[in-house]
Amino acid sequence: MNVLILGGTTEASALARAVAHDHRFRAMLSLAGRTSSPAPQPIPIHIGGFGGIDGLVGFLRDQEIDALVDATHPFAAQMTSHALAAARATGTQLLAIHRPAWAPQQGDRWHPVPDMEHAAAALGTAARRVMLTVGQQDLAPFIAAPQHHYLIRSIDKPDTLPPYASVITARGPFAERDERSLLETHRIETLVTKNAGGTATRAKLDAARTLGIEVVIVSRPPLPEGLDHVPDAPAAHRWLEAQAALRGE
Ligand code: NAP
Repeated sequence: MNVLILGGTTEASALARAVAHDHRFRAMLSLAGRTSSPAPQPIPIHIGGFGGIDGLVGFLRDQEIDALVDATHPFAAQMTSHALAAARATGTQLLAIHRPAWAPQQGDRWHPVPDMEHAAAALGTAARRVMLTVGQQDLAPFIAAPQHHYLIRSIDKPDTLPPYASVITARGPFAERDERSLLETHRIETLVTKNAGGTATRAKLDAARTLGIEVVIVSRPPLPEGLDHVPDAPAAHRWLEAQAALRGE
C-alpha cells in the first residue's frame, strides 16, 4: 500500500518510524522545507510544496498513493485544506492527525488571541521583555512593534529581526527546569506562543505558570468540516493497518 505522510511534526516522524519496516506499506514523508536541516527520517522524503491542490492531485496520481495521512502542524491550515481537496479529487483515503490543543490550568495567566497580529497588539505600547516561540515565518507583526525587547527561539536563525532581539536556535523537546531558567535569566514578562499542543514544547507553559508570567496564546485555526482525524501517531498507524486489511494486505 502506497502511503504519503504530510509531515513536519513529532507525530509524522513517529508514524514514519512505525511503518518504515512494515512490508505492508511503501511510505513516503513530505516536508514543507521550512528548516535547513530536517531531522533524519527512516523512509524516503519529499522536500518542498507540491504546487497547490493541482500539484498534489498530480503527485497522488503519479505516485499511486492509496492512503494520505495529514500529520502537519495544527497551524498548517493551507496544507490541510489542500490535502482534503486533493484526496476528494482523486478518491484517496485520508486521515489527519490532530493533536489535542493545550488547555489552561489553575494559575495560568493566558491571554488567548485569534492570530499573530492580535498577539503583537496585546503586548501594548510600553516596552516589555517578551519571549517569542512563534516560528520564523510569523515574526512580521513583532518587527512592526519594535518597542519591545524580544527573546526569539526558533529552529533556524530568522532572516529578519526586530531591532531589540536576542535569538536562540534550538529544537524541542525542552525541559521545564531549563525553560524556567531561560525565562528568569532573560527577565521575561510575557511569553507569546501558538496553541500547538503536544508534549515537546509544553514545558514553557508550566514554567510560565510557576513564575506567574503572562502568556499570549494564539488559538488554532479550525479543522475543515468532514476531515476524519485521530489524536496521535499510534491511532493513525491502526487506521493504516485497517486500510491494508481491507485491501487484503
Ligand atoms: P501552510 O500554510 O499550511 O502551507 C503552505 C504551503 O507549504 C502549502 O500549500 C504547501 O505548498 C507547503 N507545505 C506545507 N506543509 C507541507 C508538507 N508537509 N509537505 C509539503 N509541502 C508542504 O503551512 P506552513 O506555511 O508550513 O506553516 C503554517 C504555520 O504552521 C506556521 O505558523 C508555521 O510556523 C506552522 N508550522 C509549520 C510546520 C511545517 O512543518 N510546515 C512546522 C511547525 C510549525 P504547496 O501549495 O506548493 O503544496
